[in-house]
Amino acid sequence: MRATREEYWQFSLPEKLLFYACALASVGYMCWQIWARVQLWMSGRPTGEVRQGKQYWMPTRAGLERWFGKVWTYILLQKKVRSSRPKTGAPIHLMMFYGFLALFVATTLLGINTYSPIKFHQGTYYLAYEVIFDTLGLLLLFGLIWAIVRRGSTKEPISKDSVDMQVLWLLLLITVNGYLLEAARIAINPQSQKGWDSVSWVGFALAQPLAALKGNVLAYKALWWFHALCVFVFFVLIPRLKLRHIVLAIFSAAGSPDTPMGKLRTIPMEEVEQTEQIGVKYARDYSRWHLMSLDACMECGRCTEVCPANAVGKILNPKQIVQDLRGAMASGAEVVPSLDPEALWQCTTCNACVEACPVLIRHVDIIVDARRNIVSEGGLSGSAALVLRQTASTGNAWGTNGNREEWMQGLDIPLARTTSEFEYLFWVGCAGATDAGAIKTTKAVADLLKTAGVSFACLGNEEACTGDPARRLGEEFLFQEKAMENVSAFERYGVKKIVTACPHCFNSLKNEYGDFDAKIEVFHHTQLLQTLVSKGKLLAAKPERGSVVMHDPCYLGRVNDESEAPRALVEGMVNPEFHSQKTRCCGAGGGRMWMEEALTERPSNARVEQLLATGAKTVALGCPFCKIMLDASVKQVTEEEINLVDLAEMLQQANSKASVT
Ligand code: SF4
Ligand code: SF4
Repeated sequence: MRATREEYWQFSLPEKLLFYACALASVGYMCWQIWARVQLWMSGRPTGEVRQGKQYWMPTRAGLERWFGKVWTYILLQKKVRSSRPKTGAPIHLMMFYGFLALFVATTLLGINTYSPIKFHQGTYYLAYEVIFDTLGLLLLFGLIWAIVRRGSTKEPISKDSVDMQVLWLLLLITVNGYLLEAARIAINPQSQKGWDSVSWVGFALAQPLAALKGNVLAYKALWWFHALCVFVFFVLIPRLKLRHIVLAIFSAAGSPDTPMGKLRTIPMEEVEQTEQIGVKYARDYSRWHLMSLDACMECGRCTEVCPANAVGKILNPKQIVQDLRGAMASGAEVVPSLDPEALWQCTTCNACVEACPVLIRHVDIIVDARRNIVSEGGLSGSAALVLRQTASTGNAWGTNGNREEWMQGLDIPLARTTSEFEYLFWVGCAGATDAGAIKTTKAVADLLKTAGVSFACLGNEEACTGDPARRLGEEFLFQEKAMENVSAFERYGVKKIVTACPHCFNSLKNEYGDFDAKIEVFHHTQLLQTLVSKGKLLAAKPERGSVVMHDPCYLGRVNDESEAPRALVEGMVNPEFHSQKTRCCGAGGGRMWMEEALTERPSNARVEQLLATGAKTVALGCPFCKIMLDASVKQVTEEEINLVDLAEMLQQANSKASVT
């Protein structure tokens, strides 16, 4: 006789029918609940593929490949969870996920064997099935126990929501009961005498103390029904609790936008004419995917853990924003009053939350779309509103002082309008042309380009703000106006390549100007300088090992995933605790640089403390905004002499020393 086991052992037809009826009722209820949410998501903006002006719901082959790629990376490989800190419960989630997945696969295989004409649950396959899934189920068991202990611990800074705890207990009950059921079957069923039950080793071990149950079919049935009842309750709860992420995370990952993290949606003018509204007023104004992703939130709090505003005690809490929006989606209430408007303005658009979120929620899209609506209704005042007025009237976020050619005096900087041919447009940016600290960087970049023999030119007074602060403050059409103005300057001078020392300009030019027909290759200055160093045209700086710490700007290290180029320029730099894609924000992005901030609530203070904890006395930078923010904080955090220097300045110093020697 081949090794196997009988399904529904000792169950009569009426008992089976009762089971099917209960299963149908619980699964039906779950589907009905999900359908109610699907209708809410479908009220949003369509997100299917648009091809030749038509909306298609069936994706192309390439689209399907992208979907599967994302499910593989973010769901099956758990990329985001694996890269998060163990403190966030990452190992626990991984154990529970893989244990749950294993049991799901085991149940599905069993179901196919039971309800299809193909019978394969026997012989060697059966033996392998039993040993593998008996073992993998332990991952879920131990993960659940660990999660319960962690939640119960007073030392852990984790939500103590009693419902979460009850769900964990329910899952633990189902898992333990599953093993007990197996043990009871082995103890009670004479099949165990056939010798192959020992491969179900966990159940087999548990069966030994249950030997007295031999032949007690009633006890087996009682356990079986209890197990089934717990599973039915589990199905009913899935759509009602954060358990729903078990299903929705797959759809959230698969359908997540393919656009770069740093690209915000360009609002077409026709949309404004049709809807007579800018930005998001009601939840239905978000895309269908954005609405669905809200329901996929697993309430893990990773977004809030990395939020620089929340870390310094501000009320901004990205997890809460997602929860409040879910409420607004269900109730049909207006978005802005449902969130805290003050919190919306505290966001630096640093994208740390987006990078951390395991279900790929795009908090920054959500926040900026709400800001757009506030701005369109005249709800922005104070210094942020002043920046918008200055950008509109002078083309410089810093306002009237922004003569973009003053810094060039005596430096013989080529201008596009007087240079017949050049390879790179050196995009200086508002800060680079206006702020004293940033001008030092601008001059260093120009000097290095000359030293390395790079053919370049600047637009000078023909350059206007990229519109990045305006866009992120919610003034979409001021951004579009500046983008079109700049793109026409690129066309005028045949610009193909741009280099800039500002990661915010870099991001907008690289990721957002494509919507305005810009056909340009864009480089952050560290990227071009890295190429020049690798070609031997410039020398890398070699300070004393460990004396320099690298602060990755959010819009370079995280949003544009560039952290190698800066490190290729200066040898022996140390990293702070949070660096590269996990860098922490200086607090300047999203227009925050121009907003009032209480001294105790500056993200830059926290960042300076993290940087100085390395013991380094020089901080290497790659962003003018970071330089301004960190400079203001250094004085508050320490009395020591700390140097804040852009990487270009360090390289300039190294190369001028080399030319002297
Ligand atoms: S983008 Fe940054 S500041 Fe804004 S909510 Fe996310 S983590 Fe917080
Ligand atoms: S939004 Fe993402 S990171 Fe934040 S709690 Fe929800 S799932 Fe976690």
